[in-house]
Amino acid sequence: KEKLRDDALLKKSFFLAKKNWDNADFIWSVKLIEILKNVFKIEKLRELQLPTMNAIMSKEDVILIMPTGGGKSLCYQLPAVMSKGITVVVSPLVSLMEDQLYGLRKLDIKANMLCAKADKESIKMTMTALVDKSCPLKLIYITPEYMAKSNRFMNKLQKAYELGHLERFAIDEVHCCSQWGHDFRPDYKFLGVLKSMFPGIPILGLTATAPTKIIVDVQKMLDISGCLVLRASFNRPNLYYEVRRKPADKETRLAMIENLLKNRFNGKSGIIYTTTIKDAEQLTTDLRDRGIKAGCYHAMLEANYRSEVYSKWMLGKYQVVVATIAFGLGIDKPDVRFVIHHCVSKSMENFYQESGRAGRDGKKSVCLVLYRLADIFKLSTMVFQDKVGLQNLYKVLAYCLDQTSCRRSLIATHFEENWKENDCAEMCDHCRKPISVRKQIDVAHYCRQLYQIMTKAVQNEIRLTALKLVDAWYWKGVSSLRVSNVPVPNFTRETAEAIIGYLLINGYLQEDFHFSAYSTISYLKRGPKSGLVSGDNDHKILFNYELY
Ligand code: ADP
Ligand code: MG
Ligand code: ZN
Repeated sequence: KEKLRDDALLKKSFFLAKKNWDNADFIWSVKLIEILKNVFKIEKLRELQLPTMNAIMSKEDVILIMPTGGGKSLCYQLPAVMSKGITVVVSPLVSLMEDQLYGLRKLDIKANMLCAKADKESIKMTMTALVDKSCPLKLIYITPEYMAKSNRFMNKLQKAYELGHLERFAIDEVHCCSQWGHDFRPDYKFLGVLKSMFPGIPILGLTATAPTKIIVDVQKMLDISGCLVLRASFNRPNLYYEVRRKPADKETRLAMIENLLKNRFNGKSGIIYTTTIKDAEQLTTDLRDRGIKAGCYHAMLEANYRSEVYSKWMLGKYQVVVATIAFGLGIDKPDVRFVIHHCVSKSMENFYQESGRAGRDGKKSVCLVLYRLADIFKLSTMVFQDKVGLQNLYKVLAYCLDQTSCRRSLIATHFEENWKENDCAEMCDHCRKPISVRKQIDVAHYCRQLYQIMTKAVQNEIRLTALKLVDAWYWKGVSSLRVSNVPVPNFTRETAEAIIGYLLINGYLQEDFHFSAYSTISYLKRGPKSGLVSGDNDHKILFNYELY
């Protein structure tokens, strides 16, 4: 019976996907364009905005997957203005809701918000509006927490439904429904009741998180498995992707960044992302010492100071803002010509979003990652308690370690997008300058050597961080870790780090977290796949890498 149901749902979503939603001959089409221009002051719709609105206006359930900044909000805001009844928007962050309300009020669109910090008067007004068909209120923004806890709201919502005054639900950041997502929110579970409580009321889910596994989970959770799924492209053709090794030595590293800012990015505006507040402050100081006009931005700075930094950067008084990821929401500068990651991001989603702040005006811009293995462990201790934290981080590591693939194809694959060989047009470091020798090396031999060192460490009751493991491999550090038949490698430390990174990603090594009084430390131990490389069997671990 279940199988029959699944088949039917599959057929339904296939049928929906085939339908031409891009048409301009729906009964609302003329009105839609009119409102777009006159109310929203927007000239042209972007990719998938029209299909989404047409489908949701046709009362279909829709999940829209579109990169951040793509324009998802318009897809429920415009239909809300066009419709008589009320659109309920579920959104996880009060700050996001406040931004939207501010924007809508400027356009003279009536919207309100329900959350723990909303004042009593405003809540009362919103509740009344729900059951008053003559009230001009179009949108109600609500947190999932509030919805799950407020019987009063749900009661009014039911009344609105009976009155025919409830138009649709829009669920922003809909991936929060799924446990597989990077920020699962338990309160989103409550949204599972909407479909059965309000039959016939369409649901629009919006997210920038693409994996099919998550989308399928979300569909099940919301009970909209046969819905239309629309995916916008994640490709940003004008962004040039590049990864560089980050010099371990501080002076060399600063000289490199100085050189970039004074030559390649001379006179251009950009952002440098760091992981910690301390790093952001230190790097700002170091760059200023080198005569670079740099501003610093992170969450611990006062709001006034932060907005001053932002405006100086907008006006070009700062060439660059050195920031933590707190610098993100609401950045609206079209001519960001470069985004440098001074430390890798914690997931490909984060990387895509942060680097994507470059080139909003469509002109060529650079997304440069400075990579070192040590930075991975700095982040892993911050994310490992999250269920999929390490998995996400290792995807970034794989992106950095890759010496041959097109960066753009790696990103496309991550977002489950089809990729054609020549789509990059030399807009990444690997396509511009392909490595001539593309051969696979077998690193199983090195893996065995590392295991020998690790065995010795266990015997000596020493725990090995990645750094210490590399040291021991090169016969540096404690002499008790030296294994006589493991010679010092005849390649650079960077290659050694790359091999360790590769073994980590592939489960031959694994991180082992320990708590000290003030911090968490990541040690390395044998991974779940270590059994495959025991003794002198001929198990191969092939790595596409040029040893140097
Ligand atoms: P998302 O939710 O997908 O991250 P938003 O809905 O916040 O994106 O929209 C990002 C920005 O794009 C907003 O400033 C919005 O006004 C603008 N925008 C949306 N659609 C269009 C359009 N068709 N033309 C121009 N700007 C648009
Ligand atoms: Mg959004
Ligand atoms: Zn490429």
